[in-house]
Amino acid sequence: MTRNAASEADTAVAALREMIAAGRRCVVFTGAGISTESGIPDFRSPGGIWSRYQPVEFQDFLRSEEMRRESWRRKFATHGMVAEAEPSRGHRAVAELVRRGKVASVITQNIDGLHQRSGVPEDRVIELHGNTTYARCLECGERHELAPIRDAFMADETLPACRVCDGLVKAATISFGQQMPEDEMRRAEEETLACDLFLAVGSSLVVYPAAGFPALAKQTGARLAILNREPTELDSLADLVLNREIGPTLGAAVGVE
Ligand code: NAD
Repeated sequence: MTRNAASEADTAVAALREMIAAGRRCVVFTGAGISTESGIPDFRSPGGIWSRYQPVEFQDFLRSEEMRRESWRRKFATHGMVAEAEPSRGHRAVAELVRRGKVASVITQNIDGLHQRSGVPEDRVIELHGNTTYARCLECGERHELAPIRDAFMADETLPACRVCDGLVKAATISFGQQMPEDEMRRAEEETLACDLFLAVGSSLVVYPAAGFPALAKQTGARLAILNREPTELDSLADLVLNREIGPTLGAAVGVE
């Protein structure tokens, strides 16, 4: 790093540190970018796994047994990468802010469960797009673990059925075309309205309705900071924009390795 680049980085970190220090009740909003340093590619990286495994839309999953098989094939092709991922420096910095009582809640678009794994209590994480590390029955909501589903599917592509009601079982993510989870959307809105600093980290802020929360925070008087490698659609609204790598920037601002 040149001396200029180093001093620019120091200034960016200091600005973020000051903003966090001034916040009384902060919300952190995360997207796929916070997990790339854990080895899980984001959606938009060229040649990334998500372009090879286009998700199955919800209506197709409901309609067709073959599409359900295809959905589980894709799920298990990428499952190891998520199952083996460890929280990144960015996740650890967010967990530390929650531990200090600075951050009231973490609203995430991610489905990898890494905020919980990094030590953020379950009830402080609001998952807008669900969680891919387990499955649920679409009829009765019963939780199903993936290991037995995977064993049966890998043996002869047996599709899972709910042990309680025989309903369709699907990874516990919100698919394209599936209704957003009501409870999570309501909690995310409440937390957004109650915060005085909204920190958006590693999201391109183009996936709605999730990307509506930063604008809502700003409208209700909170300060908005955006930390993302590249510019986002909402940069013009923000009080602070940092086009930087998440781990080194947030890690240094919070004092976490
Ligand atoms: P996105 O892929 O649209 O955006 C991620 C953003 O993070 C990009 O703008 C990218 O430039 C930036 N970024 C990546 N690595 C970074 C780093 N180390 N430092 C700084 N910036 C970095 O993701 P999104 O907006 O979160 O939305 C995509 C959807 O895909 C989400 O709804 C989510 O459900 C799903 N998704 C989830 C995961 C996951 O759970 N880990 C991974 C891929 C996609």
